[in-house]
Amino acid sequence: MNEIYDELNRMAKVIYEESENLPNDEKKKKIEEDVLDLLVEMYLAGVYRIGDDTYINLEEMNEIIYFYVEGKTWADRIRERIDDGTLDALTLAVIVETDGHRVFETSYFQTAQKVQVRTGKQLYKTWVTMDDLLVRPTHSFLEGDVVPLETYFETYDGDRALYPGGFEKAENCINCRCTLLIK
Ligand SMILES: [Zn+2]
Repeated sequence: MNEIYDELNRMAKVIYEESENLPNDEKKKKIEEDVLDLLVEMYLAGVYRIGDDTYINLEEMNEIIYFYVEGKTWADRIRERIDDGTLDALTLAVIVETDGHRVFETSYFQTAQKVQVRTGKQLYKTWVTMDDLLVRPTHSFLEGDVVPLETYFETYDGDRALYPGGFEKAENCINCRCTLLIK
């Protein structure tokens, strides 16, 4: 799974460089289109991890991709950064990786919910960290926990999530690379 985030990081740098010399209006349009393509791929990867084509729903995909985190979507944040001149390759990479992770994990979880309804079989999810030095302690705390699909994971800072990237505090979602194993 780490390779996915390395690849998103690499793609974010390419997207940044390709738009670097464009006027702001064109830059906003091009970056949003390019990042959207990556997020669509992440949505589809989440579906295919546990389901098939029949679980693809474009309306739900749009809702997941353009989800508001603290009042803003990734596209709002990128546009603001372009306007105030603070968008750099690293900032774009953090946005792309964080939202790519959120889209993938949300899609995987929501598809699993549909699989559970369709088959009538109770599914269980295991919290899996990258198990390296970058994993934050509140997430290491959850490593290996197994709960029914619909149960929240609760960590020691009072935050909770149904899946990685779904915490209530943004600080628990930014740069998270945790995933689930759903069976
Ligand atoms: Zn994490």
